[in-house]
Amino acid sequence: MKRIGILLFLASMPAFAASPLTKLDQQFQSIRKNPPELYAFLYRMPKGGDLHNHLIGAVYAESMIKAAAEDSLCIDKDTFSLTRPPTGGHCQIDASRAETDNALFSPLIDSLSMRDYEPGRESPPDHFFNTFNKFAAVFSRHNGDFVAEVVRRAAEQNESYLELMALVGAGPISELGKRVGFGGNFEETAAKLRAGGIADLVTGLRGQVDQMEQQRITDLGCQAKPDSAPCQVRVRYIFQVLREFPKEQVFAQVFAGFLLANSDPRVVAINFVQPEHGLTAMRDYHLHMRMIDYLHRQYPRVHIALHAGELASGLVPPEDLRFHIREAIEVGHAERIGHGVSIMYENDALGLLRMMKQRHIPVEINLTSNDLILGVRGADHPLPVYRKYGVPVVLSTDDEGVSRTHLTQEYQRAVLTYNLTYPDLKSIVRNSIEYSFLPPAEKAHLRADLAKRFERFEQSY
Ligand SMILES: [Zn+2]
Repeated sequence: MKRIGILLFLASMPAFAASPLTKLDQQFQSIRKNPPELYAFLYRMPKGGDLHNHLIGAVYAESMIKAAAEDSLCIDKDTFSLTRPPTGGHCQIDASRAETDNALFSPLIDSLSMRDYEPGRESPPDHFFNTFNKFAAVFSRHNGDFVAEVVRRAAEQNESYLELMALVGAGPISELGKRVGFGGNFEETAAKLRAGGIADLVTGLRGQVDQMEQQRITDLGCQAKPDSAPCQVRVRYIFQVLREFPKEQVFAQVFAGFLLANSDPRVVAINFVQPEHGLTAMRDYHLHMRMIDYLHRQYPRVHIALHAGELASGLVPPEDLRFHIREAIEVGHAERIGHGVSIMYENDALGLLRMMKQRHIPVEINLTSNDLILGVRGADHPLPVYRKYGVPVVLSTDDEGVSRTHLTQEYQRAVLTYNLTYPDLKSIVRNSIEYSFLPPAEKAHLRADLAKRFERFEQSY
């Protein structure tokens, strides 16, 4: 009785009456089932970082078409893709025509993204992943401009950090891997790759980062206005290994990724990309994890995030749903899991969830992407299960351009579908800084900055 009396007394004190947060939480309750009002709230809310964002998929098709027109590229009308002109020849259709002709522009946008996707000729995953080939011709010259576009969009939505997956080991690195081959011995193959000049190719990758960063700074005018919101968004890069390549090329890429991230603080981690359900990705999964294991032992400071469990029942045989996430953690040393959709199909799923909680391994949740590619949405998505078992989660965009989404929309979708409260959102936002791959001092800076942003946001309500 005495204890209850004290509690009643404390509750009656002004300091314990409705604090700004409680008021805001109540306000949030009143709008959280109203999509437009909720959107406006979430758009302004600080969102920390986007930790799962592929640059190539983050660019909207409209920007690709503009860049293609600038570069005098062509439109292939059979596939509705952007292509280089034939050697010594001219385009049948100039890409610039799409800028003035809606009969070209509109189907091109649909072809380069998931907008108005109609099931039929291609499955959803095929259409999604095929878009990357349809605009690949645009990329090399515009990487920096595209980084600026993504950063600008992040700043508008009150984001403060981006880990962009923006570098790949296709081209000379994979070529070197092909020449060197892979006999099954990691040590020997690594020695041959060194002798073949992999270090120089890694220097070339650093040059790509220089270029992207310079262009970003120029496009955003950061030299003149370093305090502007886009210039305050911190950007780091993640090296992507193309998992559908032959094993000798994958090993060269993983090696290059570790060398790069070990030597350039702007590159914070490696990841594996391309469809996890692809032929080679499935066949070589164990081998890929062992490659990472080997290189992790050589370069233990390099962070590792892995796409694992971007799978659904029926997409692959049931046996193949049973081990990817666990193996990514136990063999591949993944510190973060991308997607993790098939978690409940894993062997000893509950044990795995407990292990992820205990080891603080977060899941990068990409709701729109999972819906569009895997057809997993609503009650079928494991987001609530992760939360129930105390596994940290972050919300991210995956490929916001191809999916025609953005981070605010991912938060909106999470709230509408899973009834999240304002404190739930705040803890997810905080996770996006806590589980970033930044060194401790930089993380502390962003943590403090996020607290200030929340304070300003909450005071404005
Ligand atoms: Zn992804």
